Amino acid sequence: RADPAVRVAELADIAQWWPQPGPASDKYTRGVVGIATGSAKYPGAALLSVSGALAGPTGMVRYAGSAHEEVVRAHPSVVAVPRPGDAGRVQAWLCGSGLGTDEESRRTLRSVLATSLPVVLDADALTLLVDGSHAEDLRRDAPLVITPHDGEFKRLAGESPGADRVAAACKLAAWINAVVLLKGDRTIVATPAGEVWANPTGDSVLATAGSGDVLAGLLGSLLAGGLPPERAAVAAAYVHGLAGRRAGHDGPVTAPDVAAALRPVLADLL
Ligand code: AMP
Ligand code: MG
Repeated sequence: RADPAVRVAELADIAQWWPQPGPASDKYTRGVVGIATGSAKYPGAALLSVSGALAGPTGMVRYAGSAHEEVVRAHPSVVAVPRPGDAGRVQAWLCGSGLGTDEESRRTLRSVLATSLPVVLDADALTLLVDGSHAEDLRRDAPLVITPHDGEFKRLAGESPGADRVAAACKLAAWINAVVLLKGDRTIVATPAGEVWANPTGDSVLATAGSGDVLAGLLGSLLAGGLPPERAAVAAAYVHGLAGRRAGHDGPVTAPDVAAALRPVLADLL
C-alpha cells in the first residue's frame, strides 16, 4: 500500500487547537481529567502525571490510586481518592504510568476501560494489555490513545518498530483500533484510519526517568478538554518537546523540570 502522507505539526496548529476557556466557562465545562496512575512502588509516577495534567486546559484534575495522600499533599487543587470508582465525574481518563501490574492495577485498568469515556493508556497499562485478558475491554466506542515507547511497542506488537516508525505506528493503530503515540527520537502519532503526524519538537533531554509520565498527564487533560484523540496526542507531544528544550536551558533535566516548563511554554504559545 502507498505510504500515508505524514503531516508535521506546526506551532499554529497547536495554538489553534488548544482549548481556551470562554467568559462563561466553569471548572466542569473546561473538563475534568481522571488520573489513575502510580502505585506504592512508584508514587512518583502519580505525581508526575498529575503535574502534566495540571498544566493542561482542564478545570479540574481528579486522581484515583494508591498515591492519593502524596498527590493531595503536593497538589492541593487535586481531588484524590483511592479508586477510579470513587472519583466522581470525569471526562477522560489516563491510566497506567507507574500503575504496577498486580490484581489491583488490573482492576483499575478494567474499570477505566469499562467507562464510555476517552482513555489514554501508558506504561504498565500497556503491559497489562499484552497478556490478552483485556482484549474484550478494547472493543469500546470511545476514543483510546496509547503511548508506547519502543520497548512497550515491541511487547504490544510482537516486534520492534524498526526503521519505518510510520508504518509500524499505523499498523498497530489499525490493529488495536487506537491512536498510537509512538514515543522516542522520532515521535509519531498514527490513527486507525491511517492519518499520521510526525512531531518536530523534542530531543534527547527528554530521555530521563518519568518524562513520559508528564506527557501522558498532559495528553489526558487535552482529551478531557475536548480535543479529538489525534489532536490531543499531537499537541501534547509538541508542547512536551518544547518544555524539554526550555528546561534544558537551565542545565541537566529531570522530569519535574519538564513539567515545570510546560506552563511558561504555553504562556508563550497561547
Ligand atoms: P518514557 O520512556 O515513557 O519516560 O517517555 C520518554 C519521553 O521522552 C517520550 O516523550 C519520548 O518521546 C521522549 N524521548 C526519549 N528519548 C528521546 C530522544 N532521543 N529524542 C526525543 N525525545 C525523546
Ligand atoms: Mg513511560
